[in-house]
Amino acid sequence: MVKQTIQIFARVKPPVRKHQQGIYSIDEDEKLIPSLEIILPRDLADGFVNNKRESYKFKFQRIFDQDAKQETIFENIAKPVAGSVLEGYNGTIFAYGQTGSGKTFTITGGAERYSDRGIIPRTLSYIFEQLQKDSSKMYTTHISYLEIYNECGYDLLDPRHEASSLEDLPKVTILEDPDQNIHLKNLTLHQATTEEEALNLLFLGDTNRMIAETPMNQASTRSHCIFTIHLSSKEPGSATVRHAKLHLVDLAGSERVAKTGVGGHLLTEAKYINLSLHYLEQVIIALSEKHRSHIPYRNSMMTSVLRDSLGGNCMTTMIATLSLEKRNLDESISTCRFAQRVALIKNEAVLNEEIDPRLMIKRLQKEIQELKDELAMVTGEQRTEALTEAELLQLEKLITSFLEDQDPESRLEVGADMRKVHHCFHHLKKLLNDKKIFGNNTVSNTVSSESKDQDCQEPLKEEEYRKLRDILKQRDHEINILVNMLKKEKKKAQEALHLAGMDRREFRHSQSPPFPPGNPEESQRMRLSSAPSQAQDFSILGNRSSLLHKKTGMREEMSLGRQEAFEIFKRDHADSVTIDDNKQILKQRFSEAKALGESINEARSKIGHLKEEITQRHIQQVALGISENMAVPLMPDQQEEKLRSQLEEEKRRYKTMFTRLKALKVEIEHLQLLMDKAKVKLQKEFEVWWAEEATNLQVNSPAVNSLDHTKPFLQTSDSLHEQSQLFSNKSSGGWEVQGQGTGRFDVCDVNARKILPSPCPSPHSQKQSSTSTPLEDSIPKRPMSSIPLTGDSQTDSDILAFIKARQSILQKQCLGSN
Ligand code: ADP
Ligand code: MG
Repeated sequence: MVKQTIQIFARVKPPVRKHQQGIYSIDEDEKLIPSLEIILPRDLADGFVNNKRESYKFKFQRIFDQDAKQETIFENIAKPVAGSVLEGYNGTIFAYGQTGSGKTFTITGGAERYSDRGIIPRTLSYIFEQLQKDSSKMYTTHISYLEIYNECGYDLLDPRHEASSLEDLPKVTILEDPDQNIHLKNLTLHQATTEEEALNLLFLGDTNRMIAETPMNQASTRSHCIFTIHLSSKEPGSATVRHAKLHLVDLAGSERVAKTGVGGHLLTEAKYINLSLHYLEQVIIALSEKHRSHIPYRNSMMTSVLRDSLGGNCMTTMIATLSLEKRNLDESISTCRFAQRVALIKNEAVLNEEIDPRLMIKRLQKEIQELKDELAMVTGEQRTEALTEAELLQLEKLITSFLEDQDPESRLEVGADMRKVHHCFHHLKKLLNDKKIFGNNTVSNTVSSESKDQDCQEPLKEEEYRKLRDILKQRDHEINILVNMLKKEKKKAQEALHLAGMDRREFRHSQSPPFPPGNPEESQRMRLSSAPSQAQDFSILGNRSSLLHKKTGMREEMSLGRQEAFEIFKRDHADSVTIDDNKQILKQRFSEAKALGESINEARSKIGHLKEEITQRHIQQVALGISENMAVPLMPDQQEEKLRSQLEEEKRRYKTMFTRLKALKVEIEHLQLLMDKAKVKLQKEFEVWWAEEATNLQVNSPAVNSLDHTKPFLQTSDSLHEQSQLFSNKSSGGWEVQGQGTGRFDVCDVNARKILPSPCPSPHSQKQSSTSTPLEDSIPKRPMSSIPLTGDSQTDSDILAFIKARQSILQKQCLGSN
């Protein structure tokens, strides 16, 4: 058992704007426990609850400042926990902090760079690496991914559901057994045999998490996500299985309700997260007080699920994520306070060992048989009827496998049946005699014909003399063969020298090059998987989660007009830079992998050649020794030494390149998943924007205005499709929407940053257009179109105000883009 308090770490996020950084200092004196001091400016301190203080000091196991790398966080925080999980202990790492303080960044990672990958992908990588190294045990890994939102659990990894909102995902419920163990109904566990499979699951869950989120629910800040790695291990032959779970938890934002300052629906949600984190706090307070008998775990789903992690059988670590900008200082202080309380909680982690019932049954069955046999022996109840044919055959099989078994401890288990014991001895005797006769025969084969008739009782010396003479004859024969071989070898070596160049060329041709030149990205993916034969397990790139693929393939269903709008939207989207960057990196990595693949092939063929040369050299040496009657030199000659050192060098090179290729493979896979995720995000944002634009058009066009207004805000894809038809009349200068009647809008110049309806001077609206500011004049000229007016002065002035506001936004964007 390992007794340990919950370990607490702090991580400070880099500020968005440097000048807004609050004042803090980190004291990391080697002898003392590191502490973080937050200094509250006097003006802020005045308003701050209950305080005249200006400085707050908190102790942590370690504090990671703004520049701490993801690698450092993993090495110092997650690796030790993963290590104990590999030993069979439960582990939990949870990130706690206000929204935007870096919880998701720390737990999952950033969406842009490979180096930004967080604790989950790094831990998966580490765990699978360790499992591969340890051949003394058999391991099985399963993954689950749970999201808790408004006290409801959702399975993020259900492959049958294509989620468009959280409610589409299977609901997970809690069941408690009589021993108060928590079981999660409907949470699927997926086996992952490789790091790639596990990564795919992580990205599938993350994509579901993102898709399910709407601007209304902002689930990422209001929900808790628990990614769990379930690891079981067993030693071969043992009936004991060890189970360990590692929860990696991204908690909801810890900000207070008052600060969110939102009303209605959102307030309910805000209250909920706070309720759920409030219950977490209650549990933690209860645990940190000594003589409390009741711990209110059951109050919320999250505390129920994490029950073991809090004051139970688990090694738990908390990361307090802090955003120390001035306006966030009070939240950061409460995060630190929470951490101080958490640090008081003692956990007791035990090895979770369990007997596997199937293995136990086998073992018990064997024991029963042994006891029965023993009993029969003691009571002397011996059977007398003859053994059947089948029984005899079975016994002989047993004897054969017993004799063949190399294990010195293997036993011939025939039970306490004396008939069987006798038969075994009988059979063994027969085998031994047969072998003797057989053995004699082999010798006699080489014996001269006259000796064949002789009695085997002949004096020993005579027989030995004959044997030695035969051996001599054999050796003579062998020498002749070897000399012949040597001659052939010499000839061959000369030929080989001539053909060496040609051979090498042929060899290269006979192996399909891993990357033919000029291949596009998709085929590169395929090629990488079929690269060098040793690298054949690089097939993951082909079998990425089909669901993830399906999600990124949504675009194919778009109408032409919408596709074009999407292209423009994509081009102007901030994420497109990241996607392009990643594409570039991916390209680089692909060509690096391609070059590596080629070098690996070359190294492999070189190794083959060197080995061949050494063998040849060896044969030549031996043959030479024999033909010239010289003893084979004990020391290998210099030439061979040289070849050997070349071989070793080549092998080292091969290994280094292979390791690099393996790492590249993981990076490529990660980057592709990141890009897929970014594409899904882009797609989703486009859908939202599209729906908004379509609604705006409806609102502004009198023709469309007259259409059914009872339609909901978010439209079905069918109605969106109809809308898209409006956009499909594309003129050479820009996009036009042909409203019915007089209303005509210039939707967007293809060069404009966003597709926005904008007013154009019309005969009816000279007055409005003449009031335009100089800024407006600088907007690129657009085709003439009329502003749809209703005739009602109030409504019309609203419409115009709206159009003006839009125009000024457009103006700003135009300026911004210049
Ligand atoms: P949370 O999950 O706590 O709401 P996020 O992890 O989403 O916060 O972080 C908010 C933003 O800050 C993201 O854009 C993220 O990439 C960035 N960020 C967070 N922590 C760091 C860090 N340590 N280094 C660089 N960027 C960070
Ligand atoms: Mg987050």
